[in-house]
Amino acid sequence: MKKLAVLLAAVMAMTLALTGCGSNSNNSSSVASTGSSASETSSPTPTIDAIKERGKLIMLTEATFAPFEYIENGEVVGADVDIAQEFAKDLGVELEVVDMNFDLLIDSVNAGKGDFAAAGMTVDEERSKQVDFTTKYVKSAQHVIIKKGSGVTADNLDGLVIAVQESTSGDFYATDEINAKEVLRFKSAVEAGTALKSGKCDAVIIDELPAKAIADKSNGELEVLEDKLTDEEYAIACKKGNTDLVEAFNKTLERLMNEGKIDEFVQNHMVVE
Ligand code: GLN
Repeated sequence: MKKLAVLLAAVMAMTLALTGCGSNSNNSSSVASTGSSASETSSPTPTIDAIKERGKLIMLTEATFAPFEYIENGEVVGADVDIAQEFAKDLGVELEVVDMNFDLLIDSVNAGKGDFAAAGMTVDEERSKQVDFTTKYVKSAQHVIIKKGSGVTADNLDGLVIAVQESTSGDFYATDEINAKEVLRFKSAVEAGTALKSGKCDAVIIDELPAKAIADKSNGELEVLEDKLTDEEYAIACKKGNTDLVEAFNKTLERLMNEGKIDEFVQNHMVVE
């Protein structure tokens, strides 16, 4: 009887293991589960060897941020994806892109749900404590989008309803530097733009080129104010302590910058309508 129980337990364990494997076949949820099942906090660092063995480099992003990342024909494309393709090429592996909310990116990198986050991410002090950043590869700034003709100016945002993308530098600026009537926080930059069009807010604060991309797609309803609110720079976020990966990425970034490729990637993804 005892033997039968042991046998049954063994069969059950095997079945579980098999179904586990089955659901782990090449989709992004399998990626999400690699390395994070034991513990979210002590996930293994994705070393270059591990990435090469897996044959796949996993990028995490939030894809409503043209020209850096956006969806086209059901696929995530953009300048950050082009850069990540070069990382993958230099490592001799394939690239996989996982789309998620911006505010989850840093925790997800640290939990091993991907190897890095590339999302037009501004380097700041708080984030630098949580992740290791590569070399900065793009200069940016926060800008204000308004409804054309509304008369809203960048130096007088106090008392207004401001829409932002949650947990971004636009959110931090609206929260800390403006005496806004209300800050509406959206999961995506595009939703913030939609709120402005439908009159739910007076202005959107967002990064320069994504602001232009949103205004370009608004049929002339929205405009980006010239005055910038901040000066920022983007970098790629890797798990804290993953120095080898940061160094490998830095080499690729240096090559791309020397070749003028990053500007080219950004220009290629600017929407002109
Ligand atoms: N650059 C901004 C930030 O890092 C916004 C990034 C984004 O929304 N993808 O906070």
